[in-house]
Amino acid sequence: MAPKIVVLGAGVSGLTTALLLARSGDYDITIVAKHMPGDYDIEYASPWAGANYLPVATPGTPSETYERTTWPELARLAESLPEAGVHFQDTVIYRRAKDVGTATGDWFAELLKEDAWFKDVVPNFRILPTSDLPAGIDGGTAFTSVCFNTALYLPWLTSQCLKHGAQVRRGIVSHVAEAANLHHTGQRADLLVNCTGLASLRLGGVEDAAVYPARGQIVVVRNDPQVMASVSGTDDGSDEATYIMHRAAGGGCILGGCLQKDNWESQPDPNMAVRIMKRCVELCPKLVPEGQGIEGLSIVRHSVGLRPMRKGGPRVEREVIRGVPVVHNYGHGGYGYQTSYGAAQAAGRLVRKALGVGARL
Ligand code: FAD
Repeated sequence: MAPKIVVLGAGVSGLTTALLLARSGDYDITIVAKHMPGDYDIEYASPWAGANYLPVATPGTPSETYERTTWPELARLAESLPEAGVHFQDTVIYRRAKDVGTATGDWFAELLKEDAWFKDVVPNFRILPTSDLPAGIDGGTAFTSVCFNTALYLPWLTSQCLKHGAQVRRGIVSHVAEAANLHHTGQRADLLVNCTGLASLRLGGVEDAAVYPARGQIVVVRNDPQVMASVSGTDDGSDEATYIMHRAAGGGCILGGCLQKDNWESQPDPNMAVRIMKRCVELCPKLVPEGQGIEGLSIVRHSVGLRPMRKGGPRVEREVIRGVPVVHNYGHGGYGYQTSYGAAQAAGRLVRKALGVGARL
C-alpha cells in the first residue's frame, strides 16, 4: 500500500509539492487547507502575487538552487502548456545608485547586478546601454522572464493534483500534528508536509518565530504596457517599490508596490495606491493612452497580500512532531512562485528519505 501523506496548505508551495509527489505515483495524497484557489484572503498569499520570475537569492544559498531549478519548469509551462496561464514576458530592471541599503534596494541586490548569477539561466540577459535608460536611472538590465496569471495557475495546479490521484479537502488545524487525522482514507497519515506559509508563525507544533509578514499593495489594471519593468526604489519611502507585470491570458496588469516588513494591515491605503499608479505611469508612459496620466488606467481592483518572509530564508527541513514525520516547505517570502519547483523537489527528497520509499523527483 502506498504511504499516506497529508499536504497542509494549498498555496503555490503546497500545490506544487503535492503535484510532484502525486506525479511520482508512489504516494496516496490528501491536500488539506483553510483556503483554496478561488479564495481571496489576507491569510492566503498566493492569489495576490504578480507573479513573475525575478531572481533575488544570494548565490550559494538553497534559495539560489530553488530559483535556478525552477526556471526550466516555468519555461516548459510557458512554451507548451498555455492552459497553465504562464507566458514569457520581456522584463527590464532599473537601478538607482541612491537605493543601496534601502529595504527595496536590499531586496533587489542580486537582481540588479550586471554580472548576475542567473544571467545564464534566463534567456536574452543583457545590460542596457546608457542611452536606453530613463531619467534618474543609473543602470539597467533586461531578460526574458515569465508572468503567471495566478487566477488560472493555482486552479490548474489543483486540477493537475486531482488528475494524478490526489484528493483535496478543506480543513483547519490548530496543531500541525492534527493534520495526520485528515487523510481521505480515514486512516492516520504516515507523513505530513507543512506548507502553511505565514501561518507557520503561530501554528501549534511549528511556532517558528523567524517568520514575519512583508506587506505588498498592488493595483490590478486592464491596461497592457507590453513589457514588465521594476525599479530598485522610489523617492516616496524606502519600503515602497515600483514594478509592472503583465499577466498571461487576460489576467490584467499588476502595478506595485511595497515591501513593508512586520506590517499586518490587510486594507489598501488609498494614498499609496495613487503613488503606485503615478510611479508606474511615469516609468512606463505606454501604460496609458498618449497624453493621459493615472486617469487613463482602467482599474480592476486594489489589493493587499502578505509575503510569508522568514529570517534566514525558506525552511525546507524534516522533523518528527508528536510522533509524526513532518517535512516543512514554507517561508518563501516574495519569491514563492520562482522557487516553487526547486523547493518542492527538495521537499520531495526529504519525504523519500523519511519514508524510505518513492521514486526520484
Ligand atoms: P500561502 O499561499 O499563504 O498558502 C498557505 C496555505 O496554508 C493556504 O492554503 C492556507 O489556507 C493554509 N493554511 C495556513 N494555516 C492553516 C491551518 N492552520 N490549517 C489549514 N490550512 C492552513 N512570488 C514570486 O515568486 N514572484 C512574484 O512576482 C511575487 N509577487 C508577489 C506580490 C505580492 C503583492 C505578494 C503578496 C507576494 C508575491 N510573491 C511573489 C510571493 C508569493 O506570493 C508567496 O511566496 C507564495 O504565494 C507563498 O505561498 P505558500 O503556499 O507558501 O503560502
